[in-house]
Amino acid sequence: MHYDVTIVGGGIVGLSTAWKIISAHPGIKLAVLEKEPAIATHQTDRNSGVIHSGIYYKPGSAKAVNCVKGYGMLLDFCKEHEIPFDLCGKIIIAGEEKQIPTLEGIYQRGLQNGLEGIRMIDAQEAKEIEPHCHAVKGIWVPQAGIIDYRVVANKLAELIKEKGGEIITGFKVDSIVDCNDSIKITCDNRAVVSSLAIGCAGLYADRLATLAGIKPPHKIVPFRGEFYILRPEAERLVRGLIYPVPDVNFPFLGVHLTKRIGGGIEAGPNAVLAFRREGYRHLDIHAGELVEALRYSGFRKLAMKHWRKGMDEMVRSFSKRAFLKSLQVLVPELSFADISRSRTGVRAQALDQNGNLVDDYVILQQERMIHVCNAPSPAATSSLSIGEFVAGIAGEKLKGL
Ligand SMILES: Cc1cc2nc3c(=O)[nH]c(=O)nc-3n(C[C@H](O)[C@H](O)[C@H](O)COP(=O)(O)OP(=O)(O)OC[C@H]3O[C@@H](n4cnc5c(N)ncnc54)[C@H](O)[C@@H]3O)c2cc1C
Repeated sequence: MHYDVTIVGGGIVGLSTAWKIISAHPGIKLAVLEKEPAIATHQTDRNSGVIHSGIYYKPGSAKAVNCVKGYGMLLDFCKEHEIPFDLCGKIIIAGEEKQIPTLEGIYQRGLQNGLEGIRMIDAQEAKEIEPHCHAVKGIWVPQAGIIDYRVVANKLAELIKEKGGEIITGFKVDSIVDCNDSIKITCDNRAVVSSLAIGCAGLYADRLATLAGIKPPHKIVPFRGEFYILRPEAERLVRGLIYPVPDVNFPFLGVHLTKRIGGGIEAGPNAVLAFRREGYRHLDIHAGELVEALRYSGFRKLAMKHWRKGMDEMVRSFSKRAFLKSLQVLVPELSFADISRSRTGVRAQALDQNGNLVDDYVILQQERMIHVCNAPSPAATSSLSIGEFVAGIAGEKLKGL
């Protein structure tokens, strides 16, 4: 099998990249290689389903730029292909006076990132938007919304196939060899040869880059996010999206309440170390992957610096009461009987060797390969923009090969 371009990973980032390449180069021979029997079964399916506005991210960062651009591209794509979404809006609430400076900082970032219509709100206005929330102050973000990213991914796959691209499932890449004039990618005894290859392997992004012979400056450490669901009688307590003020050092910590596009209200996710990269349950353990994470200097440094936070997250993982307590900060009326455990997801979080979370997207390049090595939240929102960016690099490389 010989292709011009192969993309490893059939999640939303790989599919968006494939879609942007095949749209820009009609007639190109392209294949997406996915290890699972179906596309989009990992992060793309197991997320909060929020269309992020871009309010949180450092102005000028790849996250900020791609989120704002990707937001518009995503909405256009959904309108064109009749994919349901709901711009229900979100409030970010400070429950205590001491959180107000951080809240104001987020608001300023939102303005710098060009968001229109966001505004600071007082307790009274917060109650008008979300009558059951507790807030001393908040930010109203009208453009935030909800969607099912798996539906987006499936549509992308359909369009890629219509344009002659191939989606090859059940193909777990286990070796990558640069043969000077091509890249040979194998799965057991099957081989695919292409002029250019692109890695979009999510939780295995660093592994894939290592297979290709580069050493990424970080490792992916998997953090499981556990969700609860509100019972139907409690759904009246939440209208849209209710978020706490994030911890600036750990923006992914802090459970939120989320309306789902398919109906119902979810609470979560928390963030605990997963004992395997695709470890969706407490007892999912992969000895090799766990040892790899625990032996990694970056993880050990993170754990030493922030063991207290890690313990709190562990407690929240095992104790429904502790989880509920975090939710009651947002909506005090929620009761123990109102929530029950539902699904989980695992975040691919890159950690550098000094124990710092790699916040921004990371794209590494070799002569014949491009690696999307870190694409954490809001990469689902940003996927079409990331895909366009990577397609641009691919186009330049193809010219020179
Ligand atoms: C709990 C949680 C909540 C989130 N909430 C949001 C949100 O509300 N909004 C938002 O914008 N973002 C959110 N995100 C982030 C978002 O889901 C991810 O950033 C995005 O889905 C990343 O897409 P991806 O294609 O890179 O990864 P994935 O969807 O994980 O896809 C990677 C694919 O690569 C495949 N693969 C891996 N290794 C190989 C191999 N060796 N051979 C072949 N295939 C391979 C995998 O099977 C997988 O299908 C959330 C993430 C999580 C986990």
